[in-house]
Amino acid sequence: MPGIFIFSEDNALAGQLLTPALELKKSLNQPITALALSEADAKALAALGADKVIFLQSASKWVDGFAEAIFSQVSKATASVLLVGGTLRGKTVAAYVAAKLNAGMTTDAKTLKVDNGKVLATRVLYAGLALCEEEVALPAVVTIRARTFLAPPAAATAGTVETVAVEGDSRVTVGAITPTGETGVDISAAGKLVAVGRGFRKKEDLKLAEDLAAVLKAELACTRGVAEDEHWLPVARYVGISGQTVKPDLYLAVGLSGQVQHMVGCRESKVIVAVNTDERAPIFEASDYGIVGDLYEVLPLLTAALRK
Ligand SMILES: Cc1cc2nc3c(=O)[nH]c(=O)nc-3n(C[C@H](O)[C@H](O)[C@H](O)COP(=O)(O)OP(=O)(O)OC[C@H]3O[C@@H](n4cnc5c(N)ncnc54)[C@H](O)[C@@H]3O)c2cc1C
Repeated sequence: MPGIFIFSEDNALAGQLLTPALELKKSLNQPITALALSEADAKALAALGADKVIFLQSASKWVDGFAEAIFSQVSKATASVLLVGGTLRGKTVAAYVAAKLNAGMTTDAKTLKVDNGKVLATRVLYAGLALCEEEVALPAVVTIRARTFLAPPAAATAGTVETVAVEGDSRVTVGAITPTGETGVDISAAGKLVAVGRGFRKKEDLKLAEDLAAVLKAELACTRGVAEDEHWLPVARYVGISGQTVKPDLYLAVGLSGQVQHMVGCRESKVIVAVNTDERAPIFEASDYGIVGDLYEVLPLLTAALRK
């Protein structure tokens, strides 16, 4: 029986995929099957409204190596739609499965519906300057980035979990997983962010932003230049088209110009506040509140005021 399938190796993202999947279920009237890489993940997805979760049990930890097993499940069920979490590895898996299914694929969908036997997806183009609508005939493979949707609340009735032993692709084995930098930073999950740009003159000056972040209970984020050119902060903290997408309640942008490649990653923040010396900086166009001023004067004042 045809169905709607979802997969992400990131189980928080897999939960978020259930929201568009539940919408598609209403129009396609087909069950939702989630594919999970651990039993705990499988149970969590079943509780969130997947009708069935298949736990792909394997000794392998190489996500890309599950592509064949995912293709096998999806093709066996003649799935109409496969939604895949748009991580780097997820996109590799999605492309593999789409090619093997000879199915159309669209990436980074922001909205999704099915009409007349086709998936209609909107996606952002030109770093956020345009939205385009794509039509993909069924069966379709669609990737969706983290935090495009919120996960649904727990379902009234949990779905079933089935364990299927699969052979991971044996060409690559994972010997060890070693974090590249600081661990535990997930700016995409932060409720408040203080984002820093090249308006800071040297790394030590980021202390001003750290102090402000501490009183706000916020995480630090940054522009690509701060992470990749200056190496002042880890790459995991930069926001933008080639970095993280964030949707915090507060995005406090300090000494960053607000170029489109950066803004595409944070424009959906609830409230954006900017501090910049240049009143014509593009960041002010996207901001709810702006302070035209020197961060070296403004930040200590803000931190002191918030401490009171
Ligand atoms: C293909 C491509 C992909 C890219 N992807 C990304 C991405 O994912 N993320 C990203 O961030 N960038 C990305 N970029 C780079 C992007 O185009 C910008 O160059 C970058 O975002 C600018 O970083 P910035 O705002 O830190 O620096 P700048 O543009 O140099 O801005 C510094 C700002 O600080 C202000 N300032 C200076 N001194 C002070 C002071 N004392 N007090 C207050 N304000 C001050 C200045 O007025 C200025 O507005 C990409 C570029 C390309 C070409």
